[in-house]
This record gives sequence, C-alpha cells and structure tokens, in this order.
Amino acid sequence: VAHTGRTVGRLGEGDWDGKVSEIKKKIKSILPGTSCDLLPDTSHLPPEHSDVVIVGGGLLGLSVAYWLKKLESRRGGIRVLVVERDHTYSQASTGLSVGGICQQFSLPENIQLSLFSASFLRNINEYLAVTNAPPLDLQFNPSGCLLLASEKDAAAMESNVKVQKQEGAKVCLMSPDQLRNKFPWINTEGVALASYGMENEGWFDPWCLLQGLRQKVESMGVFFCQGEVTRFVSSSQRMLTTDDEMVILKRIHEVHVKMDHSLEYQPVECAIVINAAGAWSAQIAALAGIGKGPPGTLQGTKLPVEPRKRYVYVWHCPQGPGLETPLVADTSGAYFRREGLGSNYLGGRSPTEEEEPDPTNLEVDHDFFQEKVWPHLALRVPAFETLKVQTAWAGYYDYNTFDQNGVVGPHPLVVNMYFATGFSGHGLQQAPGVGRAVAEMILQGSFQTIDLSSFLFNRFYLGEKTQENTTM
Ligand SMILES: Cc1cc2nc3c(=O)[nH]c(=O)nc-3n(C[C@H](O)[C@H](O)[C@H](O)COP(=O)(O)OP(=O)(O)OC[C@H]3O[C@@H](n4cnc5c(N)ncnc54)[C@H](O)[C@@H]3O)c2cc1C
Repeated sequence: VAHTGRTVGRLGEGDWDGKVSEIKKKIKSILPGTSCDLLPDTSHLPPEHSDVVIVGGGLLGLSVAYWLKKLESRRGGIRVLVVERDHTYSQASTGLSVGGICQQFSLPENIQLSLFSASFLRNINEYLAVTNAPPLDLQFNPSGCLLLASEKDAAAMESNVKVQKQEGAKVCLMSPDQLRNKFPWINTEGVALASYGMENEGWFDPWCLLQGLRQKVESMGVFFCQGEVTRFVSSSQRMLTTDDEMVILKRIHEVHVKMDHSLEYQPVECAIVINAAGAWSAQIAALAGIGKGPPGTLQGTKLPVEPRKRYVYVWHCPQGPGLETPLVADTSGAYFRREGLGSNYLGGRSPTEEEEPDPTNLEVDHDFFQEKVWPHLALRVPAFETLKVQTAWAGYYDYNTFDQNGVVGPHPLVVNMYFATGFSGHGLQQAPGVGRAVAEMILQGSFQTIDLSSFLFNRFYLGEKTQENTTM
C-alpha cells in the first residue's frame, strides 16, 4: 500500500503509522502464541516420503544415490534419501580402508568393475564436478599391484592373467629373474611367478572420494538425514512357486529412522530400500525379516555378511623400496605399499579363520604385526628387517562368509530391498560400478553395462558360490 502511495495520501503519515501498529496488535491478539514462538527447525528430519531410502551413507550408499540421480530420466524425477547414523564415519569401512585398486581377479565381473572404477577415478572431475567447488584431487597413485605366487598357485595365476587380459586389463606375468631385475629389493625365495598390473592399478584417497560423492549427490538433490534405521513396516502376501512351495512375499512401505541423540523416530514412506549398511548390513536384512524362516528355505536364508576386524600398520624404513614400489601382495597373504614420499609404508595381512580377532571393538593387536606380519615382510623385503612401526588402526571388512564377493540387486522375497554390500575387502574399488548396476536394476529392471547376475542373493539359497580363484 505504502508503495502505491494511494492510501498514504488520504490518511497522512502519522495516522498511517498508528493504524499499522493497531492492526499489528489486533493480528497478534487473534493469532495463537506470541512473537517469540518461532516455528521449530525441522531441517534435520527426513522427508515424510522418499522414492528410495538408502541405509548407509558410506561409499556404496553414496554411489547408488549418485547413479540413481545421474540415470533418472527427468531431473528431480526420483526422491532419494540417504540415512547415515554416524556422519563422522568413525567406524565405517570406507574411511579405514587402504585405498587399493587392482584388476587382478579371476572373475570377469570383478575385473570389469575394477576397470570401470579406474576410468571413473581418472575422470573424477567429469563425474563429480560441482559448481563453484574446487576440483577433486584423489591422490591416485598409479604404481600398480604386484601379486606373488608360490609353485602351488602359479598355474592359477597364469589362468587368471589370461582372463584379466581378455577383459582388457594391462597385466603381465613375471618370472623370478624378471622380478629381481625390475625390483632389486625383492627376495624371490619361494616365488614361482608374479603378475604385475601396468595400468589402472595403485591406490587413492578414499576420504576424498567419499567427500566428493557426498558433495555431488547433495548438489543433485539427494536428501541426507543423520539417524539410525531401526524398523521397517511391510505388508505380506502368500504365493505358490512353480514348485508348489508356499512363500511369503514382503514389501516394505515405511522405514523408521531413530533420530540422532534422541528417542524420537521418524517414519519415511518409500517405494524402495537399498541395504548399503556395509559390515552391519545383515542386521538391516534381519530387520526386514530376511533369514527369519525355516532353515534350508529361501525364507530362512540369512544375508551372510558380518564385520571382520582387519589391522593396518604404518611403518618407517629409510632403507626401504623406492618411489616405483607397487602395492605388493606376498605369497603369505601379507601386503604393503608406499605411504607418501617419506620412506613410510603401510600394510598388514588378513588373519586365518583360527586367528580371527574379536570384532566387538576396533583395538589394534600389535603382537599380530610382530608375529604374523613382520616376519613375512622381512623375508620378502630384507630392508624391512629394520622397519619401525609408527602407528596402526583397525577397520571392519563387510565380510561375506559364503564366498567373499559382493551381494548386488534385489532380494527375491522382500521384493523392494536391494543390496549393495558384502565386498569383503574390495568394496572401495567396486563402488562406482556397483552403484551404477543397482541403479540400472531399479530404473531399467536389469543390469545393463556389467552383468552382475552371479552376485544376486539367490546364490546363498542355491549354494552356488561366486568365488575368486585366489593365488594368495
Ligand atoms: C582395513 C581395510 C582395508 C581395506 N582396503 C581396501 C582396498 O584396498 N580396496 C578396496 O577396494 N576395498 C578395501 N576395503 C574394503 C572397503 O573399505 C569396503 O568394502 C567398503 O568401504 C564398503 O563400503 P560401504 O559403503 O558398504 O560400507 P561403510 O563405509 O562401512 O558404510 C556403511 C555405513 O552404514 C552405516 N550404517 C550401518 N547401519 C546403519 C543403520 N542401521 N542406520 C543408518 N546407517 C547405518 C554405517 O554407519 C556406515 O557409515 C578395506 C577395508 C578395510 C577395513
């Protein structure tokens, strides 16, 4: 009104101010509450509805979110919510991993996933660029991976390398003589053959990738909520299979999120749930009723993923191998790589089943290094006899006890729960391709670029292992 000047003209300036304050008082007396009653800030709460709810905001969860938004047919077409209970990621595998990428697998699927990841990492700023944000520097170190095989494993290594080459990986075989020539710091005792990745292999900074993905998916409109998924509300329907077996099909309608530092929970209606809870994904599957049926049935088949504690030790060794050092995986299962440029290295070794440590905490066992890791390192690289351990940490593998490979795609009975979990020590390098595969399955109904059918849940019920023919 003041802007048009019409009413001001009739009342005069003084009258006008008086009238306005009178009207304001009247409105205040009619409206409930006082001027101090601000609307509560609900920005930390999840939306009431989301097409897709992703449980777990680690690398796998964020990768699925990214590809869903990237492949959606209309911008803003799909509402995606990521629920992460710990935004510091203090126990998440992603931040505690050693960042290795390597194509030296025996399964074509794993080789293809890792090759795609290498190209994703090399072109990271084409995938993850965000307006006004500086480019990402993943610190990708393409120093290659060197796998060593004993006499017993040499034939398997040879046939694995054949498959790797067929799939397009640049890997070569090396004799002990060739090894000594190229890497004079190696003692080849007990080594019959080696395979060496000349391209697309090495290590990178997992934190940087996690942060880059998070920043990107937020810019694409993905919602985030800090809270813990504690319950699913679902409906059930009885069905007869073609073998006349009665099964119960379930569909999740609502995800309950327990809010951080609170006993309050928020329900979120949804169409699809992604189980990307890493080492804790079996708990999420159990919440949806997976595995809660008679033993030996599909209904009674659990998601076989559990947390397994793995130690990483960092040591200093001024006489150690130089800058061209690849990530080395020894015949004993011990591994190491360079860490930075100051004669520092990191490494470890997966324990045997009998040595598996208690996974209830992330404390480091320093004796494990002295007794089970260092002797192998010192045998393989004599310079490591004088190494000094500087620090160490432990993290959880999202360990698939059935066949140590990923679980990808929908559950056959809880029809709208999709998995992206169970990668048992190679989830980091598989995340870009797996996120894309899960998004393809959701949006197009089948795997489009890499066929991951052998990673479906059904294999646990059928007893069909999708296993690596490992040479370590
Ligand atoms: C020591 C070590 C070394 C490794 N080295 C390599 C390597 O060199 N190369 C490689 O490729 N891979 C490596 N890995 C494996 C890799 O780190 C994992 O496979 C990968 O990070 C798994 O990612 P994720 O997103 O599934 O799990 P995470 O990063 O663990 O994320 C899962 C998230 O789910 C959240 N969550 C769980 N339950 C709930 C709930 N109920 N509600 C809400 N949120 C929940 C957790 O808080 C967590 O943040 C290594 C792992 C370890 C431990």
